[in-house]
Amino acid sequence: MKIVAAKKILKANDQLAAENRTRFDKAGVLACNLVGSPGCGKTTLLEALFPHMQGHTAPAVIEGDIAGSLDAQRMERLGIPTVQINTEGACHLDAAMVGAAVAGLELEAIDLLIIENVGNLVCTAGFDLGEHLRILVLSVAEGHDKPLKYPAIFQGAHALVVSKMDLLPHTDFSPQELQATMRRLAPAARVFELSARTGQGVQTFGQWLLEQRRTHRAGECR
Ligand code: MG
Ligand code: ZN
Repeated sequence: MKIVAAKKILKANDQLAAENRTRFDKAGVLACNLVGSPGCGKTTLLEALFPHMQGHTAPAVIEGDIAGSLDAQRMERLGIPTVQINTEGACHLDAAMVGAAVAGLELEAIDLLIIENVGNLVCTAGFDLGEHLRILVLSVAEGHDKPLKYPAIFQGAHALVVSKMDLLPHTDFSPQELQATMRRLAPAARVFELSARTGQGVQTFGQWLLEQRRTHRAGECR
């Protein structure tokens, strides 16, 4: 029997992730790994976000799902170039899958790539995809205790989007407690509160993302 250590797999993943990042950098693309539980509103966030960014960025999306292409269809309806990855059971994307999906995109024609990961707060934290930014979505329905229970994914996030804020009155979610936990756990992470459904807060997040893309591009020219 041949046994391969998980550490070795992660090391190979890191090498492939570095290759992906080099490809993104060469093409002037800011790549974001969008993570969060199933149903936290990752795809709905993108649907609300892209209209705000129209004319300011040329985005593309890679959709990671265990099966089907429902989310990719939603992106295509917005006119966004999209590649769907079906992991066929795997509960996270890895750098090899993203590398293969990128072959289906015209990288030179875009400047922002959103990789929507499989809904999962656990092992997505351990797999670098070659992204520049990790954006984590947490809906108020999930509870403000999640950073304490799944610390790795929260610690690795550059931005935390607290979604479904329109549902706040119907939950026990405390934005103050979440902010306090994040200050301890991931002080550098930006926290955005928004509702993709009502549009509240979406523009602020969109402006931050555009600013990240601008500074990323400026960094390249140095
Ligand atoms: Mg989705
Ligand atoms: Zn997994």
